[in-house]
This record gives sequence, C-alpha cells and structure tokens, in this order.
Amino acid sequence: MTPAAAAPPPRVPLARLPTPLEPSRVFGARLGLSLWWKRDDLTGSELTGNKVRKLEYLLADAEAEEADTVVTCGGEQSNHCRATALAAARRGLRCVLLLRVPDPGAPPPLAANSLLGRLAGAEIRYLSVDEYRRRAEIFRAVVEELRVRGRRPYIIPEGGSNAVGAWGYIQAMAELHTQLGGRPVTVVYAAGSGGTGAGIELGIRRLRWAGARALGFAVCDDRATFQRQIAAIAAEASARFGLDIDVQESDVDIIDSYIGPGYAQTTPEMLAMIVDVARSEGIVLDPVYTGKAFFGLCREQTLGNAAVVGSSAGDVVFLHTGGIFGLLPFADRLRPLL
Ligand SMILES: *Cc1c(COP(=O)(O)O)cnc(C)c1O
Repeated sequence: MTPAAAAPPPRVPLARLPTPLEPSRVFGARLGLSLWWKRDDLTGSELTGNKVRKLEYLLADAEAEEADTVVTCGGEQSNHCRATALAAARRGLRCVLLLRVPDPGAPPPLAANSLLGRLAGAEIRYLSVDEYRRRAEIFRAVVEELRVRGRRPYIIPEGGSNAVGAWGYIQAMAELHTQLGGRPVTVVYAAGSGGTGAGIELGIRRLRWAGARALGFAVCDDRATFQRQIAAIAAEASARFGLDIDVQESDVDIIDSYIGPGYAQTTPEMLAMIVDVARSEGIVLDPVYTGKAFFGLCREQTLGNAAVVGSSAGDVVFLHTGGIFGLLPFADRLRPLL
C-alpha cells in the first residue's frame, strides 16, 4: 500500500452525501467564470454545513474512546457548536458548549444557533473573551469536573479543526473529484479555524488531482496565521494517519483582505451581496463566513485578478459551507436593504 492510500479512520453517518454540485445561474456568467456551488449547506437541515462532515469522524473517535459527553467551544453564534449539540443528540451523547460572549453575567438571549444547541439538550456555559483566550485551561477544568461526576468527556477543539476532523474535507475532495470527472478546478472556501482548508489541501494532494488548487478567504485572522494553522493541522493528520503528504505553509493560498470590521462583523456592501445572491440564485449565504468569501471572490474577479481566482485553469467551485442560522441575528441590518 502506498502511503497516500492510507485508509480513513472510522466515521458515523451524519451528513446527507454526496452534496449536490450545481452550476451558478447568474454569477458565473456575470463574472466570466465556469462557476459551481458545492452545496455543503445541504448536508442536512438542522445539522447543516461543513461541521457535519468533520463531526462524522470526530464523534466516531469519541465513541471509539467510549466517551459519553463531548465538550467544545466557539463564538456565541457558533455553527460548529450548534452542529455538535445536534450530532451528539443523534448519537446519544451529552454535550457541553463553551460559548464566548462579551459579558458572561448577562449573556444574550438564546436565539438562532444557541437556541438550537440548547433545544438539542446541550449544557451551555458562557466564557468572557479573556476566558476564551485561556480556553485550554478551562477545558482542563471542565474535563476534570465531568470526570469527578463519573462522566467520560471527549474534547472537540474550536471548529472541529484537528487531524481527525480534517478527514471530513479529505473525503469531500474525493466526492468533488468524482463529480467533476477529475477536471482542473479552483476550490474557493471561507477559512475560520482552518480545518476545512487543511482537509481540502490534503484531499487534493491525496488524489494527485492535476490542476486542482484551493483558495481560502480568511474571515478573522490574517494570511500568515491561516497558512500556519492549516499547515499544522495537515502535518498532524499526515503523521497520525500515515498520509505522507507535506503541505507547506507557502503553498496555502489565503486572501485576507475581505475580513471587514472583524469576526462575525460585516459591511453594508457584503450584506447587499447576500441579498443579491439570494434574489438571483435562490441561495442563502451567511454574513460570518460564506458571504465574506463570496464577496471576496467577486471583488477579486471584478478587479481582474484572474491569476488569483484562476479562471483560465478551469472550473471554479465555491464551497458553500452553510451558516444559514448565523444570518438570522443580522435581521435588523438586512431589513433596510430589502
Ligand atoms: C466554521 C465555518 C466555516 C469555516 O470552516 P473552518 O474549518 O473553521 O475554517 C465556514 N463556513 C461556515 C458556515 C462555518 O460554519
């Protein structure tokens, strides 16, 4: 067996797969691209988005370790935390969510993602921004507390972004390769915690997919941070699973000029783009991730940065990673645009 053929770890079925690959009705022609939507927003209805693919491997790993409780963390409106809560309920596991808020003494009312997480029975604990920065320490304390109570906790890092979670997108690339018949492609995605990017970079190399490349749009940190993070997750996965694939930081293509005011913050132009896409394609992007990445793709292409988008090389696939529930808290800012 060649190293690149190393077998994937166990998974539990949670996602509706394969997700459709659909041609863009309007934006492709407008941008002069052969543009496709990879509909990972259709991995499920409540259990929707890219995190579901990662959770298939993460929960299989938790079950292999005979855990009975998963513990994870994220922002107050984390898609990952909502997906983890629902996936845990499906598997009969308990779930503890550590959610970052400005003031843990006065957290915002349950709504959208946090409402769904709680609906699925997750125990929610709020952390301040400062506590969240020290979350490794807090995770240790929560794990200790759960053990004392006789529970068997399993930690899932922010975004489900580690070597195990990366398998979600290693396998998604095999799915896409089949759908495209192996044609050259640029896969465009939103980068938040790097696990999706790491899976894509590993998946493309594992397939030895000629003419395939990935282009990530950062939604929070800068280019160098994501290059480091993605290469580190890829290295961890390669070592743990014997993939023998080397992802160099400098080979990870990230654009960080469309973050806007900050994580989970947006601009009127980005919101207008979300309205435009909903009306012209019937596809709903979100302000935190996919809206930023798609806004960035359109801007780069309109600016004539063909080398950036790589249109001449073939198809451009926009990976729709979900996030619809994250749109709902933006109702007040969207209303004037409607
Ligand atoms: C988490 C998330 C991302 C980013 O994925 P990472 O693996 O964290 O980089 C993109 N889009 C949506 C909708 C997400 O919820």
